[in-house]
Amino acid sequence: IAPIHVVGGGLAGSEAAWQIAEAGVPVVLHEMRPVRGTDAHKTEGLAELVCSNSFRSDDAETNAVGLLHAEMRRLGSLIMRMGDAHQVPAGGALAVDRDAFSAAVTAALEAHPLVTIERGEVAGLPPADWDNVIIATGPLTSPALAAAIGGLTGEKELAFFDAIAPIVHFESIDMETAWFQSRYDKAGPGGTGADYINCPLDRDQYEAFIDALLAAEKTEFKEWEGTPYFDGCLPIEVMAERGRETLRWGPMKPVGLTNKHNPTVKAYAVVQLRQDNKLGTLFNMTGFQTKLKYGEQAKIFRMIPGLQNAEFARLGGIHRNTYLNSPKVLDETLRLKAEPRLRFAGQITGCEGYVESAAIGGMVGRFAAAERLGRPLVLPPATTAHGALINHITGGHVTTIDEGPRSFQPMNVNFGLFPPVLGVPTKGPDGQRLKGTAKSQARKRTLSARALADLETWLGGTALAAAE
Ligand code: FAD
Repeated sequence: IAPIHVVGGGLAGSEAAWQIAEAGVPVVLHEMRPVRGTDAHKTEGLAELVCSNSFRSDDAETNAVGLLHAEMRRLGSLIMRMGDAHQVPAGGALAVDRDAFSAAVTAALEAHPLVTIERGEVAGLPPADWDNVIIATGPLTSPALAAAIGGLTGEKELAFFDAIAPIVHFESIDMETAWFQSRYDKAGPGGTGADYINCPLDRDQYEAFIDALLAAEKTEFKEWEGTPYFDGCLPIEVMAERGRETLRWGPMKPVGLTNKHNPTVKAYAVVQLRQDNKLGTLFNMTGFQTKLKYGEQAKIFRMIPGLQNAEFARLGGIHRNTYLNSPKVLDETLRLKAEPRLRFAGQITGCEGYVESAAIGGMVGRFAAAERLGRPLVLPPATTAHGALINHITGGHVTTIDEGPRSFQPMNVNFGLFPPVLGVPTKGPDGQRLKGTAKSQARKRTLSARALADLETWLGGTALAAAE
């Protein structure tokens, strides 16, 4: 069997190579370190964790990343096996001894008879005779390869910085205060004229909001990141520093809107949220990209009327991050539409985080192996954490309303990406109606149980497909 080539031996590439080899297909893993470094990696180990040593919550019942851990364990993940073997105490989180973890992943891949590791940069498009390739070169993809990818996708479809605005769970927005309306009731392509949720601020609320923004602690860029601001994409706190009225003339302009709860009073400023996924469970705060510290963001954004109880699926950020406009350029099994011999995996596809990158790596490894073996590719159901993430990357994101390609931003796994679930218990064991956190926990438990059951069915189905 001809080998599959995996470019990048990080979290995604290591998992992809493992899954391919375990499927019985030879794999060549190309990692450029130590021949060439990145600005964040410090070692030559595979699956190096460049910052925190945490895989986040390990609670598979009520936390989406914990559920992803459970699914990955079920799929025989190397990253999870070595994470479990080298964990350090961290309460309900799974944290690992980073050096021991990376050494163990490297050793397991080196020892696998179907894995060959080649050290060296793939400094342009992979050679034409590599017919089945996975590119998993991460947020710090080397410039030569990035340029080659940009040449295939068009420059606009490959970003070098993210500009992440916070995303709020729809069910946590107070719609007694906020209302649906597009400015001037304009219906853009795919829109209805009532595509935005509007949160009104009066003058005192606006002034207090600006004071809080100016006083808040910000995250600094790392020296090597530079300062990537460009007009049209400034962080809100930088806009506020340029003048107290700047936001009111920018993303918070109160024009073309009538508060349906209070039609005679004009809002002094308005925060708009736009639907972020096709399911309509998530809304992003339009134009609210920010470098404020996470704790500050939650506190300050809850000052906005309508968002006082907001639950955030993602907080804002701006980082050096090479990633594709995947919903547009990748097909459903993460192949580049413009050149289908190339698949993508990991953070470059627009997922975020060590665990998510590894999960996508594993799944894409399975797809590539199935293709090599001539077996049908069966996507995991969207009700599983793997399926929900893939759906975010390739299909579930809304890009049609009136935003251009930049509206797709990287995202961690979260329950807002899952389709709604039936059968959530409404009462506790004491017969009392569930409210607040208990209600939300019951929903998450039901979503998790469905995910694990559907993963089993899918695994059974793919095993049958493999046997055919
Ligand atoms: P990586 O793990 O970066 O792996 C990509 C690999 O490809 C690297 O080993 C690189 O050397 C190699 N490579 C690049 N170009 C080439 C080439 N042309 N040829 C051959 N090899 C190449 N996530 C978290 O969950 N927690 C955090 O605390 C966290 N902190 C981060 C801090 C920074 C500074 C950055 C940049 C990201 C951080 N992330 C964090 C986000 C992200 O989840 C990780 O970067 C994760 O490692 C992504 O996995 P990956 O496999 O896609 O990329």
